[in-house]
Amino acid sequence: MSKRIALTFDDGPSDKTIKLLEILDGFGIKATFFVVGKNLEKVDFNAVYSNTLAERKIQSPEKVVDNAKNFSDEELAANCNTLKNQLKSGHMIGNHSMTHPWRKDSQGNGLENLVLDDILKELIGCQNAVYKQSAEREYTPRFFRAPEYHSVKTIITKNNSQLGFVKICEAYECNDSDYDDKSYDSSTSAEHIKNKYIEAFKSENDCIVLSHDSPVATNLVKGVGDALNLLTKNSDGSFTYQENGVRYGIEFVRIDEYYGKHNRLAQGDFLLKGQRLSSSNRQFELVFQGDSNVVVYSPNGVAAWNGDAEIYKAIGQHPCQLKIDKIELTSDGILQVIQRNQPYVWKKEVSSFQLADNGKPVVTHINGTVEYV
Ligand SMILES: [Zn+2]
Repeated sequence: MSKRIALTFDDGPSDKTIKLLEILDGFGIKATFFVVGKNLEKVDFNAVYSNTLAERKIQSPEKVVDNAKNFSDEELAANCNTLKNQLKSGHMIGNHSMTHPWRKDSQGNGLENLVLDDILKELIGCQNAVYKQSAEREYTPRFFRAPEYHSVKTIITKNNSQLGFVKICEAYECNDSDYDDKSYDSSTSAEHIKNKYIEAFKSENDCIVLSHDSPVATNLVKGVGDALNLLTKNSDGSFTYQENGVRYGIEFVRIDEYYGKHNRLAQGDFLLKGQRLSSSNRQFELVFQGDSNVVVYSPNGVAAWNGDAEIYKAIGQHPCQLKIDKIELTSDGILQVIQRNQPYVWKKEVSSFQLADNGKPVVTHINGTVEYV
């Protein structure tokens, strides 16, 4: 029995991400990247946020994810291109805030200590940057990990769920970017990163591995590459790590698969525009598009199921005319499509909504019967 490992990377995209992608794609491993919005777009900091840079006590220009770090236009364009390549390769993009506010000292100047308005701007700013820069993919992250995720408070959790993020992730740390560890830089050796990966390979339980593809992650690529090179790939796509005659089975999964909700909306879940479900076999993606239509795409990008026709049949109106904002399965089992400021435009009592492996959206009724939409 394999254990599942979700490889996650924070603080990108950066020039380090490109080489990392080559390695992951070479192994056929899908990972999750929690990106920082300002790596994709310029931020006019003082025009946007109430808490000024001075208030955030930004004192360490040498730190890569420092709020004061600004990418050049060329670097931003390259990072946006990397984001598109990440999505094209089937990796998942998560939200890691817009400017990565982080705590310099024990006083706490991180995300949780900003005024609420700024917290929301941090969350939404990154969502918008990814949405915009993913271009025609109109991708909106469903997962959020806060900078210094250990210390997040209820206020962020609450606003997260209102914004459609599924969960704040816990993680098994590589410590290659821990400010306490004084190693937001090359001082974390490739050997250290490799050994952390090996610990995860040998872990008894499923785990999330966190390392950082920030611009100064000098040893990340080598560390990850060296670790993955120790694995044997099996014919079913899983991997085996062997040490002292003991074999450890490993399946690499994205964070959505890790939490087991990748192909379905459970009660209490919802999709916002740009969000999507992936079928278990990873062959199909159901996308709630920016134009309000819902389309299932096959791996070659062809629409395998189009809500244009199907939603019209169910609701009697074209989805794009409806201007739907949210598709929700409420905690009391109502699947509904919602327009802003309206109670609902269509609803149905079901226990789950999922994307089947044949690319068809399926609802399971309360009595257990299954029906293609
Ligand atoms: Zn970070």
